[in-house]
Amino acid sequence: MKIICIGRNYADHAKELNNEVPKSPVLFLKPETAILLKKQPFFIPDFTKDVHHEIEVVVKINKLGKHIEAKFAHKYYNEITVGIDFTARDLQSELKKAGLPWERAKGFDGSAMVGKFVEKNQFTDLQNLDFSLSINDKTVQAGNTKNMLFTIDQIIEEASKYFTLKIGDLIFTGTPAGVGPVVANDQLEGFLNSERLFKLNVK
Ligand code: MG
Repeated sequence: MKIICIGRNYADHAKELNNEVPKSPVLFLKPETAILLKKQPFFIPDFTKDVHHEIEVVVKINKLGKHIEAKFAHKYYNEITVGIDFTARDLQSELKKAGLPWERAKGFDGSAMVGKFVEKNQFTDLQNLDFSLSINDKTVQAGNTKNMLFTIDQIIEEASKYFTLKIGDLIFTGTPAGVGPVVANDQLEGFLNSERLFKLNVK
């Protein structure tokens, strides 16, 4: 199982980190060990002083596929949720500056948190879903999937040119503006169309 992530898929977030809006999806991977196990808190790793939350819509692949065209991509997933692409921002900035890969900052243990999956068929338009993250009952990030630069189906087309998609693979589809640090004792809650799909404590 692998975790495919899209960077800079919302223009407002690309801008807040002074990145250019990409012409094709920015792809990176997290290893399977990045998954935060159910009911576990998120422990801030000791190699960073600035771990950021990135709330994202997450898609679970349910069919093997390669070279999937966008128009057929909807056949490759049934369930979606919201999750957090935890990022050691200080480390990522150093790596970016040095032109080095991001894995240490993005793929560490526990860096991929996923909520409860729900059937995609309950939604009339996957590209018009509200989602948000609150910390200690205050909304810190709120987005809508209509603002994705690349839709879920376009992401699947692009990713499957390079990586065979397998059952159980996850795709993190990018975060809207409002990323920021988490600190010990924070309580995070993730919502998709106002349904809460996770609650997570930071330690
Ligand atoms: Mg992200």
